[in-house]
Amino acid sequence: MSKIKIIPCLSDNYAYLIVDDQTKKNILIDAPEADPILDYLKKNSLNLDYILLTHHHADHIDGVEKLRKEYNLKVIGAKRDKKRLPDLDIEVEDGQTVDIGETEFHIIDVDGHTVGHIAFIWVAENISFTGDSLMVMGCGRLFEDTPEKMFESLQKFKQFSKDMKIYSGHEYTKSNIEFALSIDKNNLKLKDRHKRVIETLSKNEPTIPSTLREEYDTNPFLRQDDPSIVKTLKMETLTSAERFARIRSLKDNF
Ligand code: ZN
Ligand code: FE
Repeated sequence: MSKIKIIPCLSDNYAYLIVDDQTKKNILIDAPEADPILDYLKKNSLNLDYILLTHHHADHIDGVEKLRKEYNLKVIGAKRDKKRLPDLDIEVEDGQTVDIGETEFHIIDVDGHTVGHIAFIWVAENISFTGDSLMVMGCGRLFEDTPEKMFESLQKFKQFSKDMKIYSGHEYTKSNIEFALSIDKNNLKLKDRHKRVIETLSKNEPTIPSTLREEYDTNPFLRQDDPSIVKTLKMETLTSAERFARIRSLKDNF
């Protein structure tokens, strides 16, 4: 049973809708485009009360203004990036907590893909909405920040339990797993996951969510120090951050 409605948007984005049990307020994470979200809300006679934004890219915010015209809603996003985000009603910062009824989100900065990217941790449910930072078997491309910064951001997930579920911004799993297989051939868990992913995608279902445990087992961007990957890519003398950077640049050219 999932408490999260996944709404596919554009060609490969996801928006997520959750409801606070206490106040029955509806909360959307990212608004790639308005129409599929409006369709779902109208068909189910739901209001929209909050939109949480992970980062400023158009494919995560373009639906906001149209949704704002339809509903009396509040937009929540990173204070540090407010100039590039739609008008924010609530500005948040790293380490802060946002409460909507009894639903509590912990905010962490996860720069790398952009500067000013945040993730929302739904503490009670052990769920994280990671946007284009940590993704299923991948991480976002480094458009505005350094590999070191993304490396640091990904290390922040170590503080969470391995059962944490990861809801990221895109369905990129097919290309991510093909890249992972190319550098991590001996990984049995990855091979097993490949079978499951193919099956899920053949049914046209989202490969999201994953768990942090699955990511540590199969995501090359968390496995830069794995002995087999280090050997395959001849990275023995590099630091962890340098290994991460190497893997990121290989993926960019994959
Ligand atoms: Zn993005
Ligand atoms: Fe994106």
